[in-house]
Amino acid sequence: DEATIQVYEETTGLSLGDEVLDSGEPLFVELGPGLLGSVYDGVQRSLEVLREAMGDLILRRAVVAPLSRTRRWHFVPRVRPGETVGPGDILGVVQETPGHEHRVLLPPRARGGRVESIAEGEYSVTDTVGTLEEGKPLNLLQRWPVRQPRPVRQRLAPAFPFVTGQRVFDTLFPVAAGGTAIVPGGFGTGKTVLEQSLAKFSEADLIVFVGCGERGNEIAEVLSDFPRLIDARTGRPLMERTILVVNTSNMPVAAREASIYTGVTLAEYYRDMGYRVALMADSTSRWAEALREISSRLEEMPGEEGYPTYLATRLSAFYERGGRALCLGAGDRVGSITIVSAISPPGGDFSEPVTQASIRATGALWALEASLAHRRHFPAVEWKRSYSLYVDSLREWYAREAGEDWHALRQDLLALLRREEEIQEIVQLVGIDAIQDEERLILEMGRLFREEFLRQSAFSDVDAFCPLAKQHAMLRLLFAFFGHCRRLLQQGTPIDDLLTLPLRRELERMKERPAEGFQAWAEQLRQAMSNEQ
Ligand code: ADP
Ligand code: MG
Repeated sequence: DEATIQVYEETTGLSLGDEVLDSGEPLFVELGPGLLGSVYDGVQRSLEVLREAMGDLILRRAVVAPLSRTRRWHFVPRVRPGETVGPGDILGVVQETPGHEHRVLLPPRARGGRVESIAEGEYSVTDTVGTLEEGKPLNLLQRWPVRQPRPVRQRLAPAFPFVTGQRVFDTLFPVAAGGTAIVPGGFGTGKTVLEQSLAKFSEADLIVFVGCGERGNEIAEVLSDFPRLIDARTGRPLMERTILVVNTSNMPVAAREASIYTGVTLAEYYRDMGYRVALMADSTSRWAEALREISSRLEEMPGEEGYPTYLATRLSAFYERGGRALCLGAGDRVGSITIVSAISPPGGDFSEPVTQASIRATGALWALEASLAHRRHFPAVEWKRSYSLYVDSLREWYAREAGEDWHALRQDLLALLRREEEIQEIVQLVGIDAIQDEERLILEMGRLFREEFLRQSAFSDVDAFCPLAKQHAMLRLLFAFFGHCRRLLQQGTPIDDLLTLPLRRELERMKERPAEGFQAWAEQLRQAMSNEQ
């Protein structure tokens, strides 16, 4: 006769004798056309609809349907009466937003059968669009329990990168489409700006942005920013391919704990249609804190730093819901979910449990470093600590699609950065005058690569996104310049003259050059350098 009750709202004022109603269900989300462009809280209540209904504060027991019951959609069937359909098959399509076709699927657990009737027309999400044998009705709406992964036909290995347009990631620490990356960093190291840049520019069909437990004013910024943003590739508002799930620090913790599951379930739903979805979570530390709070109220045995002992299991179960997969149903649809999650370790100390457990569960670590952020080097990615486990599996793709020498250039860049660091240590011991010109050149080049290649402003009109072709041309040009300087040095040119070469000025302006025509321009400079030999 004992029950554990999960309440997703404010519980202040709840007292003995209050009536409790059993909903008889775990937490579900509604899935169907109308999700794109929505702003939900952690339990999928539309914040816009709530605000219209009750103003700026959410009252207890506020119930709103996540998807509008009155809005009508033009449904076009893709199956005909008499055909047999099974779970995951496409029944028809709806133009959800101008740039996005919503594929209406038979739900994963539905029992399929022969289509008896189905007709084109204008429908609300609950209208019957057709029937299966025995008169079973078909409509545009599905429900799914958020804590259960939606099934796929087969999981697939990573095959191509999730192109971010951020040089430091695409070149040094790429993540595969369907991969997982974490971005730990202290306060102000650029996690939120980075997640937003990825939402704007990365190569994904759809974005699910989970704002989890950050302060209200930070989320307010996201909410006022996003609707104004324009998708660089299509010229359409970014919100048309985005779903926001937000649960600020002053909203109930139970709903915050639920929010990442709500987010990933929405992502899975679009993956099942065959889309490339990117899930941004900011930040999973706040999610873990909610988990800790709930666990302690349940009087569970605390583990490290008070987090429940199952913290790591929960985290990896969440990341496992990312991936690339062959979708359920007929036709070989392939969809993917790439997860990039920000982590805010207290004091920027990565040895704490959430960062450590996340590192073990994910494929790429983009470590942000406060000292770089203080120097305004953004993205503040510390290249020695960061890594990607996807480099080898993506190597062939990069060679084929981005440049045969891509991998070699990457290795050369890492080697240069390492060498620069070694020399810097020596300089600290013996002073700059004691090192050789060749070494001084490496110091100068290391700096040039860091400033002109790795550094990238999220607020520049041109440079906020850098296509792979431009990244490749930039790298080749920088290395050509390095080689050129080295030869001049060997021929006896004094190092100080090398540092003031007019060419160098050109390189310092190259980020701001538009991507169109960049390769031709870079090739010309390379030619000019080799002609001078
Ligand atoms: P966090 O979420 O880690 O606390 P933010 O993402 O809010 O940090 O970043 C803090 C500040 O750092 C931003 O307001 C911005 O001025 C600067 N910043 C972060 N990333 C970049 C970037 N890529 N380019 C330029 N400035 C940046
Ligand atoms: Mg932030």
